[in-house]
Amino acid sequence: MIILLSNINQYRKEYMLDKISENSLFNSIEDIKGIGPKTLKMFEKLCGKKIIDLLLTIPRNYKKRKYIQNISDEHLNEEIALMVNVIKHLPQFHPKMPYKILCNNNSSEIEIIFFRGYVKYLKKILPTGEKKIICGKLEKLGNKYQIIHPESISPLEELPYLHGSLSVYSLTRGLTMSVYRKSISKALEKLIEIPEWINKDILKKNNWRPWKQTVELLHKPQELNDEKIKKTRERLAFDEALSHYIKLLVTKEKIKKNICHKIEVDKKIKDKIILKIPFKLTESQLKVIKEIEDDIKRKNPMLRLLQGDVGSGKTIVALITLANVLKKNIQAAIMVPTEILAIQHYNYFSDLFKDIRVNIVLLTSKINNKEKEIVQKKIEDGKAQIIIGTHAIFQKNINFKNLGYVIIDEQHRFGVHQKFQLSAKGCNPHILVMTATPIPRTLALTMYGNMSISKITEMPSNRKKIETISMSSNKISKVIKGLRKIIDKKLNAFWVCPLIDESEKLDLTAATNRFEKLKKFFGNYVGIIHGKMSIEEKKEIIDKFKSKKILILVSTTIIEVGIDVPDATAMIIEESNRFGLSQLHQLRGRIGRSDKKSTCILIYKEKNLNEYSKKRINTIKNNTDGYKIAEEDLKLRGFGEILGIRQSGHQLFKILDPLTDVKIMEDAMNEAKLIFEKRNSIKKTDKEIINLFLKIYNQSSSLKYISIA
Ligand code: ADP
Ligand code: MG
Repeated sequence: MIILLSNINQYRKEYMLDKISENSLFNSIEDIKGIGPKTLKMFEKLCGKKIIDLLLTIPRNYKKRKYIQNISDEHLNEEIALMVNVIKHLPQFHPKMPYKILCNNNSSEIEIIFFRGYVKYLKKILPTGEKKIICGKLEKLGNKYQIIHPESISPLEELPYLHGSLSVYSLTRGLTMSVYRKSISKALEKLIEIPEWINKDILKKNNWRPWKQTVELLHKPQELNDEKIKKTRERLAFDEALSHYIKLLVTKEKIKKNICHKIEVDKKIKDKIILKIPFKLTESQLKVIKEIEDDIKRKNPMLRLLQGDVGSGKTIVALITLANVLKKNIQAAIMVPTEILAIQHYNYFSDLFKDIRVNIVLLTSKINNKEKEIVQKKIEDGKAQIIIGTHAIFQKNINFKNLGYVIIDEQHRFGVHQKFQLSAKGCNPHILVMTATPIPRTLALTMYGNMSISKITEMPSNRKKIETISMSSNKISKVIKGLRKIIDKKLNAFWVCPLIDESEKLDLTAATNRFEKLKKFFGNYVGIIHGKMSIEEKKEIIDKFKSKKILILVSTTIIEVGIDVPDATAMIIEESNRFGLSQLHQLRGRIGRSDKKSTCILIYKEKNLNEYSKKRINTIKNNTDGYKIAEEDLKLRGFGEILGIRQSGHQLFKILDPLTDVKIMEDAMNEAKLIFEKRNSIKKTDKEIINLFLKIYNQSSSLKYISIA
């Protein structure tokens, strides 16, 4: 990485650093001849706005295609490009018949055949009398040559992009492969030699080529050799990981430099709370509380991830650390993913802080405007000390007077890189992110490389094992009978259904339907809760459930996260085969929260069971440990889904695949650390190279996930 050169100017000249920084690589794709605003939009959707984004898009596949001058049997079943003259569109006697276009190539006839397609469109792209290049597989029926559903129909001038070793790209409606390839070719012309940022030894060890050459080979491989193609992609994946990690280290350092409120432990309040809670904190809880306290009393903001399985007791940890702000004119906010959870935290916090005179407010997007205004004002003038709510609390129009501490609960529900606007006037808040999702080490490094990690590793000792059974839906009456016991003992049960309203098409058991049915057995002991209810209605239902006016709560999955009702000892999940593993684990986590024995019943419809749903149900039956379940989940689905980043994951990385590129990621991390450590002794030109490198990999913009705005 460090190239020693005595003469900086000569160096700059040699490598044209100045030229590169202003280079057209960073210009809009629209700069490429032939690309207008419409095509730009399509490219934007696929890869990004800039020419460099286009160049760093990995082909989906490669293929070989021959251009043949004359049709002959020797090319049968080959992928070919062929110039044809359109003779006529053959009449189609019935819309279900194949549509044929007769063409010729020199003296041979060939039919282009479509089994579906708009005649009007086909007439437009294959006008009689014109010459076109057709690409596809050459076939023969009887003695007639034919190409069925050609891959492309292009004007003659596109021939150069239609044969040879070809890259195949993911397309979007309206964008053809040859336009894509042509744009890539034009973009490649803009590439220039750039000084290397990867250490020579690493390049050599991995047999990687210089950047420019790599990008060229990526799109125009000399030969379709799997090993060589792999090397090309690998080097660019390494680049991407390296730039990502450098960026993480830089922001971590930046955050450290930020100034924030020092929050000292308020022992008096802490003792008061601890006296009030009806249990003893676990060693693990005490340990993480200490870690957090040590962090928030510093003048640099904390950025910490708290991992702990469902039911491990994260809420009380949050509350105890949060109490430290109360006597200090600092505001603290806690953000949760659902309104119900916000209400629950609000009630819990209000209760535990009852004798400490604290001003706690609840803010969700559903509260009425008048109340919102009042709350907003309280937040603005600092009267509100603790603000609990959904993402509504970080909307632009909410201005905190003095925000010092932010807790984000059940982070996996927000989408990993949702950016929060934590605008605290003058100061950067401490941030604690709480999650029940166990994240593998490499991925944690990738997603949260700039965060410290705390883990709750043990469950409260009073827990009894939850019994989990699965049952076919034709035995549902047995389950209903069993609920009688819950009612007699005055315990709580959840009954979860997948949808709110009956949808005939999907054959889902609707919550409303189930509610009506259960009411016939248990009358007013049955309640229902779902996402379409108003906040007041939800509040009322939860209150009734907790105070045992309602004992059986029929619900949609909105109770999935966080809901805490200690006496809930039964969880019935209808159509459990439709739920994912982590969802089932979260749902089951709603019970077994006390020393009472709990049961989870997974109901399924026999006809809906497939291999995967069977596996999921069995995994849940046989495991209680969230980490084990996540491991299984990983095998079944991969990282992306677990973290809800299947789509957004692609935005985070264009080339790197966190699931398979683990070794590359580790190597890149180590290299990033080396570069970062040397940052103060690096020469100016080398710094410029790194900056250019970060710019190329789009890491000079702000971080894409949790960060302080
Ligand atoms: P989660 O980590 O899933 O957010 P909660 O914070 O909701 O879990 O805690 C689950 C339940 O366990 C709550 O009812 C809480 O009061 C209780 N709890 C928390 N810590 C302990 C403990 N150390 N001993 C016993 N019960 C506890
Ligand atoms: Mg929780």
